[in-house]
Amino acid sequence: MQLYDQQTLKVTNSLTGKKEVFKPIKDGYVGMYVCGPTVYSNVHLGNCRTFMSFDMIFRYLKHLGFKVRYVRNITDAGHLENDADEGEDKIAKKAKLEQIEPMEVVQRYTVDFHETLQKFNLLPPSIEPTATGHIIEQIEIIKSILEKGFAYEVNGSVYFDVVKFNATNDYGKLSGRKLEDMIANTRELTAQDDKRNPQDFALWKKAEPQHIMRWPSPWGDGFPGWHLECTAMSTKYLGETFDIHGGGMDLKFPHHECEIAQAEACNSTSPVNYWLHANMLTLNGKKMSKSTDNNIYPSEIFNGNNTILSKAFSPSVVRFFMMQAHYTSILDLSDEALLASEKGYQKLMEAIKNLESLPTAQNTTNFDVEAWKQECYDAMNDDFNTPILIAKLFDAVKRINLIKDGKETISEADKKKLTNLVASFTFDVLGLEEQQATEGSSNALDGVVNLLINLRNEARANKDFATSDKIRDELLAMGIQLKDGKDGTTFSIS
Ligand SMILES: [Zn+2]
Repeated sequence: MQLYDQQTLKVTNSLTGKKEVFKPIKDGYVGMYVCGPTVYSNVHLGNCRTFMSFDMIFRYLKHLGFKVRYVRNITDAGHLENDADEGEDKIAKKAKLEQIEPMEVVQRYTVDFHETLQKFNLLPPSIEPTATGHIIEQIEIIKSILEKGFAYEVNGSVYFDVVKFNATNDYGKLSGRKLEDMIANTRELTAQDDKRNPQDFALWKKAEPQHIMRWPSPWGDGFPGWHLECTAMSTKYLGETFDIHGGGMDLKFPHHECEIAQAEACNSTSPVNYWLHANMLTLNGKKMSKSTDNNIYPSEIFNGNNTILSKAFSPSVVRFFMMQAHYTSILDLSDEALLASEKGYQKLMEAIKNLESLPTAQNTTNFDVEAWKQECYDAMNDDFNTPILIAKLFDAVKRINLIKDGKETISEADKKKLTNLVASFTFDVLGLEEQQATEGSSNALDGVVNLLINLRNEARANKDFATSDKIRDELLAMGIQLKDGKDGTTFSIS
């Protein structure tokens, strides 16, 4: 029997606004799609929070025993500046500014994205498809939507007919908007506009002569609209209807609303059973924004090179800080909050270390490990409530410290169980990592290398050059270089 058979997971579905029992389409399997980054700049910390939230969800689903196919795309074309159908392509604009190829922009920032997420210990998704790798699939969907009568072609561009779609379907059901209100609140179309209604959105845009990112299509050279890629890639890899679609709250409208409309128009079926949205990250109580300087990049937090925080913080501390809030709540980052998280994180890691050497007794007093375990699962089953899970982990920390001080006892069996559970929740589910090289551990390394230097000196004094060379060569193979000078031997680590 799998864990998911014993635990009842509930998720907050943005489509209904309710907490619902999660039931996958196919027993034991979960298909999950998350909108990935548009790779035209370094990844924002707010985006990192979104991807970290879905990484935690991915991890917990796997922990429960589900086989998860997790698809997270890379937007490398089609995302125009103002998120509507106007302005320049974000990637093409950056390429022009830096006088490089658009694909160089894409490569540079895809690498940055992967490196940053790796530092935060995110697992790679099962499939990471790109928009430019799925132009054919996108064209096929446009053809199908045209055939069904929910789109129209004008001057080499194809638009989705929102008004026509809304006559038979519900445009706005995810974001809770009504088309009539949207119409009342938008500007009139101008004579240059190709669209029939201002709410219509582009499925295919004709490429002007100066537009560098272009592909041939039945409607002439152009490029796909931004919303289309997610429909093409989610349908291709997860099917016409799949279990979970995630993304940042800011994508609910228009992006996800348009994804629903495209999929319903094309496949005549609702694409997603559970829509999950992660909330935003603020900085010192205000929205993060590059233009007001209220902004910080992940690398600036890790190296301490910024004017906002008093010191550098490790990726694990930042991850712990993020996990201390529920993914659907707004989270505010500040120096005080990170300092507090650092203390909490260190306390947890310290307790995990102490757990190994904890003395055992005949009985466990005052601590029902089995009941505690279920409380941890209850927290995660309640829409992935990581702050409650962390509170439960600190209940365990308290017990561990009492047992260490001889005030309570734990049996050998319970100690084993507790050790496994704490490690599972801390490392596998929350995705935290053990303390990275800190002052303490580098002191220990210095001690070990100095010990080897002394052994080598002894060997040399005894004319045992085989041993002394062996120590030098094997250290070098590990990246530790010994340098003999007149004041003795020093070392450097590469
Ligand atoms: Zn998307």
